[in-house]
Amino acid sequence: MLVDYPDIFTNLNEITNHPTIINTMSDHYERVKIELQQMKAVESEAAADEEQLSPASVTSVPAEVSFAARRDLSRSSINGRSRSKSRSKADGHERQVNGKQLSDLTPQKSDYSQEKGQSRLSNEQNIKGTLRLLKGKTAANGHVESCQREKDLKCEHHGKEDGSKVAKKRRAVTVDTSKAKTSLEALKMSIRQLKWKEFPMGRRTACDIYWHGVSFHDNENIVSGQVNKFPAGMIEMLRKINLSRAVRTMQELFPEEYNFYPRSWILPEEYQLFSTQIRLLKDNDSTLKSTFIVKPDSGSQGDGIYLIRDPADLRVISGSQIKQAVVQEYIQKPLLIDKLKFDIRLYVLVRSLEPLELYIAKEGLSRFCTEPYQEPSQKNLSHVFMHLTNYSLNVHSGNFVHSDSCSTGSKRTFSSVLYRIASKGVDIKKVWSDIIALVIKTVIALVPELKVHYQADIPPGKPGPTCFQILGFDILLMKNLKPVLLEVSPGVYEYVPSPVDEEVKVGVIRDTLRLMDPAQRKQHVTSNTEGGPPEDAIVVETGSDEKESLTDSLPSLCLKQVFPKYTKQFNYLRVVERIAAIFLRFLGVKGTMRLGPTGFRTFIRQAFIEAFFYLAARRFKAVLLREQVLLLLEVCEGALEGQSHSEKPRPQRSHPTQSSAPNAFSSPARTRRHHLRHQPLQLSAKANTEN
Ligand code: ADP
Repeated sequence: MLVDYPDIFTNLNEITNHPTIINTMSDHYERVKIELQQMKAVESEAAADEEQLSPASVTSVPAEVSFAARRDLSRSSINGRSRSKSRSKADGHERQVNGKQLSDLTPQKSDYSQEKGQSRLSNEQNIKGTLRLLKGKTAANGHVESCQREKDLKCEHHGKEDGSKVAKKRRAVTVDTSKAKTSLEALKMSIRQLKWKEFPMGRRTACDIYWHGVSFHDNENIVSGQVNKFPAGMIEMLRKINLSRAVRTMQELFPEEYNFYPRSWILPEEYQLFSTQIRLLKDNDSTLKSTFIVKPDSGSQGDGIYLIRDPADLRVISGSQIKQAVVQEYIQKPLLIDKLKFDIRLYVLVRSLEPLELYIAKEGLSRFCTEPYQEPSQKNLSHVFMHLTNYSLNVHSGNFVHSDSCSTGSKRTFSSVLYRIASKGVDIKKVWSDIIALVIKTVIALVPELKVHYQADIPPGKPGPTCFQILGFDILLMKNLKPVLLEVSPGVYEYVPSPVDEEVKVGVIRDTLRLMDPAQRKQHVTSNTEGGPPEDAIVVETGSDEKESLTDSLPSLCLKQVFPKYTKQFNYLRVVERIAAIFLRFLGVKGTMRLGPTGFRTFIRQAFIEAFFYLAARRFKAVLLREQVLLLLEVCEGALEGQSHSEKPRPQRSHPTQSSAPNAFSSPARTRRHHLRHQPLQLSAKANTEN
């Protein structure tokens, strides 16, 4: 059974009674508490003249809204036809479009603009399956090929009639967008579609939802409602070095489960290790042609990235001062479409950390390079338009193709890519389930520290908002269709007015809002049944979720719950979370040391987990590292349980199922004996040569 928020908050009281945290946080929360009381008083006064207080209500269109938003708004004034009529028309259109698209599956000589083609289906059976599969997505998410047409239908459909019907039923949800910054445009479009109430200048009284462009701390004085960012730890955790560290910890415990992340070294501290390992590898195999990608820790959008073929090149390029970066095995054989490399951006909603709740968007973006791909050679290493898929770089290439269609051009929907590869007989259900597994495993690697940050910033039992966050997963498909994680970014940025962006980003933001709707959320937290019982296997459904249509007047959700839905398959991986839980508890019991939140975070990341692994290895010598750790966990948890019985009621574990030994030991994969660092290196670039 999952733990409710109130239980967790009660149990965590012990931890946050720690004097250091209280000292650090108490000023803030005292202030916040007073403000909350004042706000409550003001709220009742303000209810009557609320409209006057908000200078721009949802219907106003600020000057900075782009042409796309205006276009959307003007369309939304067209009175909606009946839903069924729109829907069936849309479906009919999709079928027609799909037929057209599927007939164009054979790669055309890099001709993006060629939308119409002759029917050349060789694998009709497979395509039919694909159509069925994507129909679920299509119905849920809009469409596959003609974003524009579907958008028209949606807008007609979201006409005044539906909106007023919803408005009559309940008060509009309020959203403070004053700090939304980069995601503002897509957010405004989403709020308009939902007929919710926007407060672009902020609001004197509390809003239901606060949308921050950058971080949780964009607006410091929030005492209630929900914020779309987790506390600062999330940004910190997603930096390249920290992400690599978190995944590496999991690779040490579960090497086979976490082989979706390329082998990485942290610079400058692991330069020597990197050099030595690659030299050994080359000594053993003189034909090995390895390539590495160097990514600055704080970089984004391809900034400062370069490729090297040998560790010595790093010294040549950066001199004696190697900057903080990750150097990573370069995936040499990516899947190509129209001879071009591309990556996938998929949005994932972390609806809650405790209990862990994840949703994946059924539609994503595929971003294409603009120069035909060749395997790396000394000659082409600097060709960014060939090797880096970043939109922000490729948009400056003369070959970038802007398209009104979602299935052509340099930015496309992921579903259109799936259609293309399905036509070649590829099992796209398998591709999807591998991607879902990658996402869940990555989040599991991040969660232990995120929980620590969360507690440090929002101590349980104190007034404060709850948090959710959309994460952007950048994934590369290898030629053998194995997904590889490139990076995770902390939000939905850079809305560019284009059919694909509008389709994907507005859908994700709108449906995130729907899931965070206070009325819906209340019901969800109380019943805690959404998504049904955990599934035995990852099944890519062909239909939409039963409970997806939260409101009659909107399309069904484009976000699909994957956790706790797939708890059974992944819970055994949540070992580090148990270590963190012990640490937090220890901190609560032995609350005499003065350790501020930053030191606390550094300690838990760099010292406590390492120390735990070390102690486990010393105590239980003859078994695998993972088992050593699990055995020590059992000992510690058992001892603490005994202590709790004798001293006071035992705090509930953060997730009851995660602590059961049989569950934790039930990994299907066999693991290697030693610590990953001491293992012989195997670069997948070499393995790739076989596919
Ligand atoms: P940034 O945050 O700067 O965009 P990324 O890690 O996303 O950094 O890398 C930028 C681009 O480089 C990716 O979109 C991808 O095209 C390419 N890339 C990154 N890592 C690898 C890798 N290990 N193998 C092959 N290509 C990669």
